[in-house]
Amino acid sequence: MSDAVTVMFMKRSHRVALKPTPEQAILFGQHSGYARFAYNWAVGEFKAGLDVGEWLGERTLRPRWNNVKGMIAPWSAPLSQNAAKYAIIDFGQAATSWGAYRRKVKAGHRPGRRVGFPKFKRRKHEQGFRADNGPDTVRVDGKVVILPKIGRVDMVEHLRFAGSIREVTINRTAGTWFASFCIEDGEKAPPVEGGLTIGVDVGVGTMATCSDGTTVDNPKVLTDALGRLRRLDKAIARSRNVHGRSNQSNRREQLYAKRRRLHARVVNVRNDHHHKATTAIAKSAGRVVVEALNVAGMIRNRRLARAIADARMSGFLTKLEYKCGWYGAEYVKADRWFASSKLCAHCGWKNNDLRLSEREWWCGGCGVLNDRDFNAAQNLEQWPGLSFPVTGRGDRVRPAMLAVVGEASNESDETSTKRGVSDFIRF
Ligand SMILES: [Zn+2]
Repeated sequence: MSDAVTVMFMKRSHRVALKPTPEQAILFGQHSGYARFAYNWAVGEFKAGLDVGEWLGERTLRPRWNNVKGMIAPWSAPLSQNAAKYAIIDFGQAATSWGAYRRKVKAGHRPGRRVGFPKFKRRKHEQGFRADNGPDTVRVDGKVVILPKIGRVDMVEHLRFAGSIREVTINRTAGTWFASFCIEDGEKAPPVEGGLTIGVDVGVGTMATCSDGTTVDNPKVLTDALGRLRRLDKAIARSRNVHGRSNQSNRREQLYAKRRRLHARVVNVRNDHHHKATTAIAKSAGRVVVEALNVAGMIRNRRLARAIADARMSGFLTKLEYKCGWYGAEYVKADRWFASSKLCAHCGWKNNDLRLSEREWWCGGCGVLNDRDFNAAQNLEQWPGLSFPVTGRGDRVRPAMLAVVGEASNESDETSTKRGVSDFIRF
């Protein structure tokens, strides 16, 4: 994994809010509509193809689109054709992954995450389109981005990275237009240098607990925003109950708009916080060990709160992984079956009865009181070579329990030479 990172050129992304003129905002809307139109055309063609046993991939669909677009979308002539081109490429990728998933299911493999058939896009869904026409076709001039057919659009800040602009996507969140840049700076990632190993346990309550004792929690501003979001949800639900779900109401529309804005703010604040934390960890460590999240299994659990928590965790780990590449730290995922929470990091005893609600537990092997998250982080730090007993941590161990460990390892002469404290690991 770390090898792959070191030979790649580094790609960085930056999402910048835009300040379009009213005319430019209209053009953004038209381009989004054009991209959606082309995507939906591709879905329709693809379905019709399947009906007659024909697989229409992107390579078939694109020339076909170029032949018909003048007839079915004559209004698109003044718009940038890149929007449609990349919409069809996107569709092609969605169709390919759906096809791969179907093949795995038919062959009787366990395919992991379910991939659905590409759906028609509706106007209510996220608006957006690809604005570039391949690498280096969009230029940035200070705080201005120059987009094909749209022109010079003001950005609220400078691009954070210099280099070749590989992709530019325009999209809208809660009423604000953004440009997402993918930039390749031509530098190779720094080699992995030795250094401190840090185990990182990600969780639902505390975002991340590091084996060096640092914890990453939600900042207060985020907790406050989450509280306000919950109250807004309740207000919307009340309004539905009182006035009926399908009755139009201006007040409810306002509440929806407010919720969209607040939701976008929650996402921004959290991302910013995650960026700072992952940068700090990647810069300070030579090797970062995390647990492998069971993403496919998590997605099957359809409870909303759970899904949100999972999205946060995998988002955090994604950032941590690429930042380790930037700052020369090795990123290691522990085995999926490694019970980092249940093992005692001091003696290796395994607590099979540990429940999710228990934040602390007494070790049955050495008697130490373990903080759930910190203990997991310590186990990850030692992964895969768990060596017990861990020296230097004896001061936390209750002497009475140490005596029990000593007795037990003397019980049989025949095996005692091969047995150590590690025999107390009950795998
Ligand atoms: Zn223990």
